[in-house]
Amino acid sequence: MLGFLPDLRACRSCGKFINGDMFFSYENNSLVCEACREAENNPGEEIKPLTPQLLHTVRYVTYSAVEKVYGFSLKGETRKDFFEFAENYLLRQLGRSFNTLDYYKKI
Ligand SMILES: [Zn+2]
Repeated sequence: MLGFLPDLRACRSCGKFINGDMFFSYENNSLVCEACREAENNPGEEIKPLTPQLLHTVRYVTYSAVEKVYGFSLKGETRKDFFEFAENYLLRQLGRSFNTLDYYKKI
């Protein structure tokens, strides 16, 4: 809503919704499938592998109506992965860190 949405619709190169393992590029704010990632051969690109559960979750949060965004719960590894992904994404978009967040993580 503030202009920070990543492009999670499909692989940025082949356009497939899901094509094997999917990855998120923090640099391009886009998805890329394993085949296209290998074909692009960009070893310097910072990329995060997305489990199918994490990809489903971030798509749901990104593309759902605002009143539905909080209508789900996560458990276990997917919960941890989602919070880590969301935090990393937001901090990169904002281009800064927060002393209070750093402090929170220390305690
Ligand atoms: Zn692809």
